Amino acid sequence: MELLTEAIKNLFKRPFTEEKSKEKDWFIRGKLILDISKCTGCSLCEKVCPSKAITMVEDNRTKLKKSPIIDVSECIFCGLCVDYCPTKALAFTKSCALVSYEKKDFVKG
Ligand code: SF4
Ligand code: SF4
Repeated sequence: MELLTEAIKNLFKRPFTEEKSKEKDWFIRGKLILDISKCTGCSLCEKVCPSKAITMVEDNRTKLKKSPIIDVSECIFCGLCVDYCPTKALAFTKSCALVSYEKKDFVKG
């Protein structure tokens, strides 16, 4: 009986969890974004990435010898590249709807 009373009471209670997306400063590790203008081509992000989602490639967008290409489909959103990037060129976005049939949609520099 006690259990039933508790169950009925809980039917009318507000949820214990709160929808974070309604908060102004909510944080989520969504799709990575690279600000190429801040990148120095140091390769630190490639070195620290545990899932090998970052590859340094020759790039004619900048005067750098190499710049990072990120394969988001390999990313485990650990945050190491963001933490280690000395110039804050990498950041997480709030975009977490990562769906596509095409691998190329996940690879970006
Ligand atoms: S968040 Fe982690 S797994 Fe994803 S690219 Fe950065 S270091 Fe690699
Ligand atoms: S760690 Fe930052 S500055 Fe260095 S290559 Fe990666 S994105 Fe560029």
